[in-house]
Amino acid sequence: MRIAIISDIHGNREALQSVLDFLDHQNVDRILCLGDVVGYGPEPAWCLTKIMERCEVVVAGNHEHAVLGLLDLDYFNPVARHATHWTRDALTEDHMKILRSWPLTHIEDDFTLVHGSLDQPDLFDYVQTSWEAHLSFQQLKTPVAFIGHSHVPVTFLLSDVVDYSTEERVVLQPGQQAIVNVGSVGQPRDGNPDSSVVIYEPDNALIERFRVPYDIPTVQDKILNSGLPEFLADRLPEGR
Ligand code: ZN
Repeated sequence: MRIAIISDIHGNREALQSVLDFLDHQNVDRILCLGDVVGYGPEPAWCLTKIMERCEVVVAGNHEHAVLGLLDLDYFNPVARHATHWTRDALTEDHMKILRSWPLTHIEDDFTLVHGSLDQPDLFDYVQTSWEAHLSFQQLKTPVAFIGHSHVPVTFLLSDVVDYSTEERVVLQPGQQAIVNVGSVGQPRDGNPDSSVVIYEPDNALIERFRVPYDIPTVQDKILNSGLPEFLADRLPEGR
């Protein structure tokens, strides 16, 4: 079984299409999504429809909760707030119904899915330090959790202590648990502008991360022509 996990698409059609084309050649059995399908990018409706076509499971991100009015917008910076209002106007009531149907967590025998932290999924905390990872590990009942939210791919490994790995390929030792941030499809922030995607083979305890380039200038043009903040176009080639 090969399971692809994607996150933080953020209305970036070109990035999502490139990642799905890549996965079509990777012999994956399932595609799962960790939320923030919408927000920031110029094509939230297209991405939402495509995700519902291709992904078996989707959990909600903070941008979905913001668009639905479930999250106080004071929590957002001005650019994110502007983008949230813009995204609301770009979606129909049917789209909203789909967003409302997404759970905060999804648990199977081999893995757990959540957008932010496992200890308080509804608060969308970041998991970036060993301490934050420790709090999530305390709630983790499966070998692996896949998370998103920070747009920075990283793997936390639990042995006697919480360890940190940026390796593209991780094989879990027997009994070892991991929290894997899969990075972002539509707005990477680790200095690499290419989309990030993870493929998990539970039978081999293998977690592998890939980067996929996409047509950034086309998305930038769409952002600039849509009335979204210019900063959202400027950051994409920087991967920031
Ligand atoms: Zn995000």
